[in-house]
Amino acid sequence: MVVVRTDPDRSAGHRGLSLMLVEKPSDDGHAFDYRQSESDGGGRLAGKAIPTIGYRGMHSFDLSFDGLFVPDSHVIGGRAGLGKGFYFTMAGMMGGRMQTAGRASGVMRAALRAALRYTADRKVFGAPLLDCPLTLAKLARMGARYAACQRLAYAVARTLDAGGGRMEASLVKLLACRSAEWVTREALQLHGGMGYAEETPVSRYFVDARVLSIFEGAEETLALKVIARSLLEQALADAAPSAAAAAMAAH
Ligand SMILES: Cc1cc2nc3c(=O)[nH]c(=O)nc-3n(C[C@H](O)[C@H](O)[C@H](O)COP(=O)(O)OP(=O)(O)OC[C@H]3O[C@@H](n4cnc5c(N)ncnc54)[C@H](O)[C@@H]3O)c2cc1C
Repeated sequence: MVVVRTDPDRSAGHRGLSLMLVEKPSDDGHAFDYRQSESDGGGRLAGKAIPTIGYRGMHSFDLSFDGLFVPDSHVIGGRAGLGKGFYFTMAGMMGGRMQTAGRASGVMRAALRAALRYTADRKVFGAPLLDCPLTLAKLARMGARYAACQRLAYAVARTLDAGGGRMEASLVKLLACRSAEWVTREALQLHGGMGYAEETPVSRYFVDARVLSIFEGAEETLALKVIARSLLEQALADAAPSAAAAAMAAH
């Protein structure tokens, strides 16, 4: 799915973007070079995976398009979809935020389980790490954070299904992703030196969690543009409904 400028008048800004489906043969590699046959348009689409510190199961690619022909039928929404690319992308954002909150909860659960297993097995000075009160306290805090984020994500998903929850989707995304960084960090810490070795899955959880606060809405953008703004609107509306609209317009 590619967002493309279809209106050459750049002053149209985001209203000049459309969304289209660009097909290419599937490829398992870290680089590809697809050339269309002459009868299909003779264009080229090349891609190269961008090396990253984590998330290596799902690479991001640098793409280069050269005269690639895409038929009209691949424009999402057909003729009526021209200029709607930005709006279609925005419409998909709520789902993206929820599934990222879900991914954050999943990586927290995996990290917590790994930490529980490791601290039960690992003996230091003859006793399992799990016997240390500090280990138990860490595990309890990690478990509480995971449980809160996971349950909040389900509750917000139900609110979205019922037609609301736009701000809450951003809120749970922000909270769960930041929590995943902390929970995976604590799990790695409980593994000691082994946690820093790539052979232990917890090292991967730690670097995988780091990207969650960046994509599907960067943490700062969600905080500033969605959450704080919405909380302010709500507070103003609660205080004086008639003044709220004027204050938000001035803001
Ligand atoms: C692994 C990976 C996969 C991705 N996959 C996709 C994908 O499939 N599709 C896609 O479209 N995109 C994808 N992205 C892009 C991703 O959505 C962007 O990287 C993300 O939205 C942040 O935008 P940016 O990188 O341009 O950062 P910038 O906008 O340059 O922001 C840099 C920093 O400044 C902060 N910032 C920005 N504006 C403000 C402000 N007004 N006030 C305070 N702070 C601010 C940001 O929060 C961030 O911390 C992917 C990124 C990564 C890393």
